[in-house]
Amino acid sequence: MRLSELPIAPAPQRAELIGSWLLRVASIYAISVPRLLVHLGIEAPPISTLHWSRLPRFVARDIAKLAHVMNWPSSAIRRMQSRVGRMRQPEELGICLACWREDITNDRPIYWRRYWVDPLALSCPQHRGWLLPVRVANLRRIRTYGDLIDFAQHMICEHSGMLTFGQSSSPSRDLLVLERALCKPTHNTQIPFGDLGLSSAPMLFRVISDLLHLAFLYVEGTDTLGWVAQQVHAKIPEIPPIKRSVFEFRHRNPPPILLTLPHHLRSRQALFAYLATLFSFGSESFIDPSRLPLTEYRRLASFARQWPMSFTEALIPELAEWIRADILLLEKFKCSPRYFEERHRLGFPY
Ligand SMILES: [Zn+2]
Repeated sequence: MRLSELPIAPAPQRAELIGSWLLRVASIYAISVPRLLVHLGIEAPPISTLHWSRLPRFVARDIAKLAHVMNWPSSAIRRMQSRVGRMRQPEELGICLACWREDITNDRPIYWRRYWVDPLALSCPQHRGWLLPVRVANLRRIRTYGDLIDFAQHMICEHSGMLTFGQSSSPSRDLLVLERALCKPTHNTQIPFGDLGLSSAPMLFRVISDLLHLAFLYVEGTDTLGWVAQQVHAKIPEIPPIKRSVFEFRHRNPPPILLTLPHHLRSRQALFAYLATLFSFGSESFIDPSRLPLTEYRRLASFARQWPMSFTEALIPELAEWIRADILLLEKFKCSPRYFEERHRLGFPY
């Protein structure tokens, strides 16, 4: 079947999520987004599982179809897709009410921003305020563009002021820099905190993943938080008990990465605010490893061996010295009994 252009297709808005745009298009023809996709001949997964906020990443052929019928460039449509695709969603995502207020003031359609479906989005790049939590279960109830407008108006009425996270009124500059590097990683991403020796986006993701892992470390087989996790909790008391899960992020570059993240937006905001402080102040804000129980010290050391040495040095100088000594011993004695004797003699902490 040869598809002709749709007689009316509204233009996408700036940074609009593809599903939000399709929702607006579908509303003109009084059909649902899944029906619109079927009509356009796009092979989506079973309709019952499809929601505009969580569409799969379309293949090139489907993008070309959309570009043709909507009369809009393929490259622009490709960019409207979330990097998150159909991955597992957290229980809460974030929105910016200042963005919606601006939509109304500027007399443009209310729409859903692409980065609002990203669990790593913590603040609004435009207004630089904290995002406001929205339960994904509520988001799934939005089935038509009318529902979306009702939802936006309800949220605006309910929260007359811009909500903030914790005590501080706005995210710190360090947090904004870290968030930008995590949300838009490319080969050319300028990695913040230059002195730490994090040379690429994959390396930044790696250390973030390890630090989150340490922060979530539970004493094996129990519900008791490990020492590192207790320290994080002590530093950021605002966060409720953390409910966590593993999330997968897909980029063209770097390759997919798994991060363990809290389900609740405020917990993610608190944790990343803490990590940003850690990155900017280095060892002044990090824990003293000599106070760690042996199992956690071992875990920390095994992670740190994979980090750039300058990063370990900035965060945990004492551990960096031990790792250096360990590398020298290994070079000298390989894994011989002598290596272990020397380690014992030097009193290795892990
Ligand atoms: Zn905003």
